[in-house]
Amino acid sequence: MILIRRLRQIMAERGTGQERLDMIVRQIANLMVAEVCSIYVRRQDGSLELFANEGLNPEAVHRTHMKRGEGLVGLIAEAGEAVNLAEAQTHPSFSYRPETGEEIYHSFLGVPVIRAGNVLGVLVVQNRTPRHYTEDEEEGLQTTAMVLAEHLASGDVAGALLGAGAAGARGKVSVIKGQALSEGIAMGRIVLHQPRVIVRALLAEDSGKEIIRLGAALEKLRATIDNMLDRREVSEPGEHRDVLETYRMFAHDSGWVGRIEEAVTTGLTAEAAVERVRNDMRARMLKRQDTYWKERFRDLDDLSDRLLRTLAGKTGTAATEALPDDAIVVARNMGPAELLDYDRSKLRGVVIEEGGSASHVAIVARALGIAALGQAEGVIEMAEAGDSAIVDADTGELHLRPSQDLINAYSDRVRFKAKRQQRYAGLRDVPAVTRDGVTISLNMNAGLLVDMAQLEPSGADGIGLFRTELEFMISPGLPMKDRQTAMYRKILDAAGGKPVVFRSLDIGGDKMLPYLSHDKEENPAMGWRAVRMTLDRSGLFRAQLRALLKAAAGRELRLMLPMISEASEYERAREILEQELALARRFGWPEAGKIYLGAMIEVPSLLMQLDRIFELADFASVGSNDLIQFLFAADRNNPRMARRYDPLSPPVLRALSMIVEAANRNNRPVTLCGELAGKPLEAMALMGVGFRSISMAAAGLGPVKAMILSLDAARLHDAMMPMLNSGARSVRADLLRFAEETAVDLGIETAAPIN
Ligand code: PEP
Ligand code: MG
Repeated sequence: MILIRRLRQIMAERGTGQERLDMIVRQIANLMVAEVCSIYVRRQDGSLELFANEGLNPEAVHRTHMKRGEGLVGLIAEAGEAVNLAEAQTHPSFSYRPETGEEIYHSFLGVPVIRAGNVLGVLVVQNRTPRHYTEDEEEGLQTTAMVLAEHLASGDVAGALLGAGAAGARGKVSVIKGQALSEGIAMGRIVLHQPRVIVRALLAEDSGKEIIRLGAALEKLRATIDNMLDRREVSEPGEHRDVLETYRMFAHDSGWVGRIEEAVTTGLTAEAAVERVRNDMRARMLKRQDTYWKERFRDLDDLSDRLLRTLAGKTGTAATEALPDDAIVVARNMGPAELLDYDRSKLRGVVIEEGGSASHVAIVARALGIAALGQAEGVIEMAEAGDSAIVDADTGELHLRPSQDLINAYSDRVRFKAKRQQRYAGLRDVPAVTRDGVTISLNMNAGLLVDMAQLEPSGADGIGLFRTELEFMISPGLPMKDRQTAMYRKILDAAGGKPVVFRSLDIGGDKMLPYLSHDKEENPAMGWRAVRMTLDRSGLFRAQLRALLKAAAGRELRLMLPMISEASEYERAREILEQELALARRFGWPEAGKIYLGAMIEVPSLLMQLDRIFELADFASVGSNDLIQFLFAADRNNPRMARRYDPLSPPVLRALSMIVEAANRNNRPVTLCGELAGKPLEAMALMGVGFRSISMAAAGLGPVKAMILSLDAARLHDAMMPMLNSGARSVRADLLRFAEETAVDLGIETAAPIN
């Protein structure tokens, strides 16, 4: 350990990075009584360059290069593991380099120089006499390599090293493929949701104290995991739980803990010992091919990070730390509430290693309108805090440390989008009236309280669909009535008098609540979901009704029922509502003002009962996402079905036209709130079949309004009537032609493509 102290002194001295490396090799050779000491630094292509040396021919420095995996040094760098040999030249990997003059040295000890999981280089000592280096010597050299790693990564050496192109996987330009969770492009700087702790203090004054610190941190870590398991037990099923169970197993694993303790007894700080053991394990893991072990190593790697953070007293996520103005948060996994903890004004994008599009964090990302990717395998390994990055949810790619050319290309595109956004923002207060004077009501879809912030800037007339199940989905447990009341009240308050159409819980199917028991279904989209479930579990429905009625107190309440398949379901729901109203009157609870109960039209059976449903319901809203999936019997979430049938086809448009006619015949309001409403061409078709009110995601409002302002509704109607009877599979081309001929603004992007 004298050696480490000496190295520390060298680092504190003045001089260039190279001069210090030269002093370091001299010191190591001296104190380890070695005739040779060499430092090899890894270049970007994986080759190793002799960077400093004592004992060999000085000419060889910067001239000797080993290709990736070449020689003993290459072997050490690839395996991330020490090599200790009494007779190096007989080893099959030995590669003789005449320029070094090393033929007279027999014994060889080399260790990898690893920092934060990256092999930065290799440190070697050699002696003439053939002998095996002792375990203590090997330990000592490993620890020395840790100090050296810190030195290699420090600012003043970096210049020299960058000249040599030395960097690990984390330093390189790379592209990680993922799955788009939320649309958009984000450019910014990486923030690791769980920040990595860089171990700086390596040597301990008092090993006893370090063992106590380690013990305390382990206790704390175990308690945190138990806590998370308790909480998650009721909130998130599946993988999260399995991962946490694995964490728990490792946190109690005497092998792992024992190895860390052993490393502490060699004089390391608790942090350095954790890092040491992690590096050893990484080396072992690299040799194994099977994914099971790689997975387990990842868990253990994660756990080591957690233990390091506990030791450093930093148990919060990056949300509690200072963020760059353009943060792109990278996480292995993240709960929805954790994403909401970030300062929205600084959050540009999110990349999750494991999350899929149905994950709750994806719902929140979409609500916040930030670009997000999931299933981004390897991102934790590759990304470093502060790296520049581009999230492109259109292509599903994360560009890490992109080239300047790519940054320029994306900047152009982002600027272009921003300009268009600015134009749409300018339309905010312009009424949505067609060129021939038809007024259209444009509304916004929402599902979380955070969405409400967009209502005002969007210029929408109101909330046409509030998906109440989303707040349930991101909640750790079933929200009780009072919590629901408070939530609905906040939503109505945030709407500032604009109408809000709440939709009763649309759970079941793929939107399961983990805290509600349910059977696994073969076809969940057609299973026990939405109003079918709430009518069967009327307690759930009544609690929601009561909360809504109470929250509305004095204000009007609009509520609609999802997945009505026959008129009698609407009647039954209305009965329950009447009973709740009677109860409210009897107990003198504050009453809502006018109440409207609507039906969603999204199951084709209702198309055959349109007059009946319009007779009963105060209004109807077409859920075109479900209606189209059931009309074509094509799963809306199956990518192979995504382009197979075109919604802009005679069968769909005729069904929609039938709905509008029935509504007009019965003098009832009708609107449409599926994805069709948010796309300019599709929204134009809706105008053509007679819709005068639609509701869409906030991002669609500007482009759709621009379309409406440039549209002649009567001309469109005339042009569309023959299309409804056309024998074509799709009338998309006809509609595009109409738009072109009559100069309808479809906002078609003309920015240069990025290649
Ligand atoms: C729909 O089905 O079109 C709809 C608006 O509801 P969701 O997308 O929530 O099923
Ligand atoms: Mg639906």
